[in-house]
Amino acid sequence: MGTQVISEILQRAADGGRISPDEALLLYTEAPFHALGEAADVVRRRRYPDGIVTYLIDRNINYTNICVTACRFCAFHRAPNHAEGWVLPTDEILRRCAEAVDLGATQVMLQGGHHPECGVEYYETLFAEVRRAFPELVIHSLGPSEILHMAKVSGLDIAEAIRRIRAAGLDSIAGAGAEMLPARPRRAIAPLKESGERWLEVMEIAHRLGMESTATMMIGTGETHDERITHLRMIRDLQQRTGGFRAFIPWTYQPANNHLKGRTQCTTLEYLRMVALARLFLDNIAHLQSSWLTTGKDAGQLSLHLGADDLGSIMLEENVISSAGARHRSGLVELVRMIRAADRIPAQRDTRYNHLRVHRTPHDDPRDERVVSHFSSIALPVVEVQ
Ligand code: SF4
Repeated sequence: MGTQVISEILQRAADGGRISPDEALLLYTEAPFHALGEAADVVRRRRYPDGIVTYLIDRNINYTNICVTACRFCAFHRAPNHAEGWVLPTDEILRRCAEAVDLGATQVMLQGGHHPECGVEYYETLFAEVRRAFPELVIHSLGPSEILHMAKVSGLDIAEAIRRIRAAGLDSIAGAGAEMLPARPRRAIAPLKESGERWLEVMEIAHRLGMESTATMMIGTGETHDERITHLRMIRDLQQRTGGFRAFIPWTYQPANNHLKGRTQCTTLEYLRMVALARLFLDNIAHLQSSWLTTGKDAGQLSLHLGADDLGSIMLEENVISSAGARHRSGLVELVRMIRAADRIPAQRDTRYNHLRVHRTPHDDPRDERVVSHFSSIALPVVEVQ
């Protein structure tokens, strides 16, 4: 197809028109990089003319690494009864929350494996304890997979499980576990996980109960371009029905310490093209977060010129993606500097994307060098899963 057709699609998308999956595939594979990025940036500027790029201070706390689902890309989990399996005591989780609050975190992300004994009751107790001790912390946690698992363990339907953990303190649901939603690539990397349709079903139920969430995508495990677009289409279709996704967060598969080792990774350029395409295709999702953690700080800065309006979080603690090799640490001072160096105005946000502190000039920039990302060293030898 000719450049004229590509230009027309880009112009329509930049003007706020909707593009079809076929058109998205054409743009992803054929559009000149600078033209794709410029169209995405036009859309971002229209949504956020103030030039503000947000960041969050949060902590990911993993309550257990024991998991029965054994996703092939996951370097974090251990099978039940494995010598390296653990469950964090509640006291330790609360201690980590206290540390996070002390460093200015506004959100905690509690995530873990599918422990065979963790039903809804476990999460009710955990969230209630965190809520009681730290009412100021937003609990943005879990993902559809964990909700399905706990509902199964407790013999409840999905809506009831969500109602109960929400009543206990859960504020919103993370987009975790989306990986690749289309059936073929999903089966290849996570054969025991719920289907993409089921992941979306849990999100739909949560949205209809008034609980918002984010949506994610992990690229680079051998999926086709077409499958990447199908993933975007599935997210957009649900958003059209519920409006419950606050943000879309694409990131790249990390190849260390897992069973997919050796598969082709997504290149940085492919990732950046996906960021731009997501801004154009997901015309019904407000925020687009790019991942400096998996792609690096340079790519993170570039993404701010390709439609992204959020650079994610400092992540005072991260154990899952870093177990698989992500090593791009940052800190508050550096992250704000990165945003400013990309010619944007940095602002700390809360989970709902409200601005908490806008750093209008370098004079307003935070100086607290203690606020840095910390990765656990739990990257362990791969244990063969049958
Ligand atoms: S990604 Fe989540 S569900 Fe899959 S094996 Fe790892 S901990 Fe378990």
